[in-house]
Amino acid sequence: MAKLLEGKVIAAALKEEIIKKIQASGKKLQLASVQVGENPSSEVYIKSQKKNAEALGIEYAFHKLEATLTQEKLIEYIETLNSDPKVNGMILQMPLPAHIDYKKISEHIAPGKDVEGMHPVNIGKIIFGRAKALPCTAAAVMELIKFTGIDLNGKEVVIVGHSEIVGKPLALLMLDKFATVTVCHIGTSKAGKLEEHVRKAEVLVVAVGKAGLIKGEWVKDGAIVVDVGINRVGDKLVGDVEFEEAEKRASWITPVPGGVGPLTVVMLMRNLVECAS
Ligand code: NDP
Repeated sequence: MAKLLEGKVIAAALKEEIIKKIQASGKKLQLASVQVGENPSSEVYIKSQKKNAEALGIEYAFHKLEATLTQEKLIEYIETLNSDPKVNGMILQMPLPAHIDYKKISEHIAPGKDVEGMHPVNIGKIIFGRAKALPCTAAAVMELIKFTGIDLNGKEVVIVGHSEIVGKPLALLMLDKFATVTVCHIGTSKAGKLEEHVRKAEVLVVAVGKAGLIKGEWVKDGAIVVDVGINRVGDKLVGDVEFEEAEKRASWITPVPGGVGPLTVVMLMRNLVECAS
């Protein structure tokens, strides 16, 4: 039976480290959070960011902008925050109104203030192993895996999902640890090869957003399973992996909720401290 890989346990230790770093720097840090329009779906994330920031002594400056704001005006606003010395980092809340192109906008956030680690400059630095701010969810997955004590060198790692925020950066971080990395996606499933790849995984990370996509019986004995997916089924939140079956085979498995989620927001705060140093 697998041990539970719980984000909150690791988050508590990382928060201690962050507090120490902030205290040692003697700086007063500020995270600017920019929301355009009303987005009820992001309220829960905003609340969690504010709570986590304040618990670490970080000022959370919330900027709520009109939904009708043009792309040009939003860029101007971001550039003002870029040049404000009080602002150490900024986060753009999703979703943005349809008339705003996220990719275009995110390129205007100064790379040194990009706490989400998604500016092309920061993504590029991952290739050279020199990124200060890593994409938060990918970094959270790496922390969970580190906690298990496994040495990734030479291990078969299978990542299901190749999104820009999770699967792709995670594959690069795993390569940096000398894992043998297979990245599966919709093409893998359409080719009928998902099960074959998953069965080989010594470390399995799933970030798709489809409940029950990964059958528990596919999980290799002793595998480490990190389920990033969050799906609402009735009144419950579940991941992408069939938990009960997978738990019987894995050595470690993340619960959903309570696995990756609690760490993602801590990674945001760690990135802020890195940006400020
Ligand atoms: P995206 O929708 O951006 O990416 C999903 C990925 O899964 C894509 O690569 C997609 O391929 C692939 N995919 C879709 N269907 C299949 C399939 N049948 N077989 C194999 N691959 C498939 O999602 P995100 O990466 O943003 O998020 C993934 C999940 O993780 C979601 O449930 C999200 O809520 C959760 N999440 C959780 C976080 C946390 O902190 N716990 C943070 C971020 C995300 P293609 O694009 O080619 O269709």
